[in-house]
Amino acid sequence: MRAAIEAARSGLDVAVVSKIYPVRSHSVAAQGGINAALKAADSWEAHMFDTVKGSDYLGDQDAIEVMCREAPSDILELERMGAVFSRDSEGNIAQRPFGGAGYPRTCYLADRTGHGMLHVMYEQLVKHGVFIYDEWHVLRLIVEDGSARGVIALELDTGKLHRLHSKSVVIATGGYGRVYRTTTNALSSTGDGMGLALDAGVPLMDMEFVQFHPTVLPRTGILMTEGARGEGGFLVNSKGERFMEKYAPKVKELASRDVVSRAEQTEIEEGRGVDGCVLLDLRHLGAEKIKTRLSQIRGLAIDFAGVDPVTTPVPVKPGSHYSMGGIAVDKDCQTAVPGLFAAGESACVSVHGANRLGGNSLLETIVFGRRAGVSAAEYCKATEAKPFPDSALREACHSVAMILKRDAGESIFALKSAMNDAMEDFCGIFRNKERLAKGYGKIRELQERYKKAALGDRSDYFNNELLHYLELGQMLDISECILLGAMNREESRGSHFRTDFPKRDDVNWLRHTLVHKEGGEFRLGYRDVSVTKFKPEERKY
Ligand SMILES: Cc1cc2nc3c(=O)[nH]c(=O)nc-3n(C[C@H](O)[C@H](O)[C@H](O)COP(=O)(O)OP(=O)(O)OC[C@H]3O[C@@H](n4cnc5c(N)ncnc54)[C@H](O)[C@@H]3O)c2cc1C
Repeated sequence: MRAAIEAARSGLDVAVVSKIYPVRSHSVAAQGGINAALKAADSWEAHMFDTVKGSDYLGDQDAIEVMCREAPSDILELERMGAVFSRDSEGNIAQRPFGGAGYPRTCYLADRTGHGMLHVMYEQLVKHGVFIYDEWHVLRLIVEDGSARGVIALELDTGKLHRLHSKSVVIATGGYGRVYRTTTNALSSTGDGMGLALDAGVPLMDMEFVQFHPTVLPRTGILMTEGARGEGGFLVNSKGERFMEKYAPKVKELASRDVVSRAEQTEIEEGRGVDGCVLLDLRHLGAEKIKTRLSQIRGLAIDFAGVDPVTTPVPVKPGSHYSMGGIAVDKDCQTAVPGLFAAGESACVSVHGANRLGGNSLLETIVFGRRAGVSAAEYCKATEAKPFPDSALREACHSVAMILKRDAGESIFALKSAMNDAMEDFCGIFRNKERLAKGYGKIRELQERYKKAALGDRSDYFNNELLHYLELGQMLDISECILLGAMNREESRGSHFRTDFPKRDDVNWLRHTLVHKEGGEFRLGYRDVSVTKFKPEERKY
């Protein structure tokens, strides 16, 4: 939406296509906040250093510099657009401490920051007259003679396929959290755009880096914001010990997420967990603070875990949360295909490297969303419209018809469940060669079974099962990319931890992984990391 607003501002005819109503996008669930060095005592350089260190030195420093420099003006613009932020006692935008940050620089709206931002973006879309195709599912990116020509989308309430002819396309389809069983992500976070880009000949970058958030409710995967620890919450094990003192003596609960998640998993696996969880203790913050600053998560803990954090510690465990990898783009959001751009969680710029800091993702959507809008608009102005290939719609119609025609085959829901298990069991927080090979074998097997799966619902109108089928196809490709990257990277860096290669190896692995798809097969490649201001050093918290 931020990209569309920027492109519309330059006078172009812009449309947004969204498989759900735009205000239901996963961004609406973002709780803790958005980072920017707003205070005189803070600086964009400090923000940049924290982000580079958090990324375990894999983030591209030229891109990180852009994000941190541009953050303050983007936040102020967001506020002028109408976004509401919580205030400090002097009436300035309040900022809370977050994991891996050397200064309290996370701006927030209580624990509903994403909600506040997303609705403002939507208002701005309407204000700028951007046309919205809602509940249209994009199932193909059209690239002809090496440049983007538009997309093909399924109109969900009629089952009709449409061609949307455009000079440029910006992919902003979010993450793939639903590849895993335990995830904080919405049902719609199935990584479609990454799969579509792969099919269109664009490589994905650093897919092995999956963020596991340390404080997720068991079973539902509902998030308890990092803001709960930012406000002073403790993590304790079954013995009542504040175990982070052992793993990150200086900053304890506010170490980066990969560090905290591994610590929790170690406590649980070594028998100091509580029913497969650890406890998030907020009681000492007092009822007043919990009810004002953390009201949403208090409600969620009461409704979904049956405990009131005012009086009782909340059981939490790590769960899949964020995709550091994604569609390989440069600082201007350009992919390998002219006219095709990507931004937000679906893209890999890379500002998060091997581990993202909390509060930097909402920021990425705003800074790089704006930049993608500028790039796409400049491209449109400099380019003549080229024809949409005649055969593309026919081919898409044919392939959907073939799926609907198949009258016998396995259920896609069993396949999805098997994929979730394989990724959770074999490609989770702690990885090794054997586990990864098992996971890879399983996903390859599921790829074959997928081709023969059949739908129970073969009707045209609101065929959600068809939607799930299309999403599952993308998720299996994404799973394969994650596993390939993880098997190949023989080191431990950020969120990617190999028990058989427990050390970071800058000599061989200070480089990005690329995965290309060619003729249905995946091929690995590499790209250099941009190191400008900060030389890689050991990461300690
Ligand atoms: C519970 C939770 C809390 C979070 N809290 C924070 C936080 O406090 N701070 C922070 O910085 N980050 C946070 N994050 C991460 C951050 O919210 C996300 O990374 C970010 O909002 C993603 O935004 P996006 O615009 O890239 O994608 P999304 O908001 O996921 O939007 C994706 C859009 O793409 C559309 N789409 C997808 N596939 C298709 C298709 N095939 N056809 C058509 N449309 C499609 C969807 O309809 C949707 O509109 C949180 C994430 C979660 C899950």
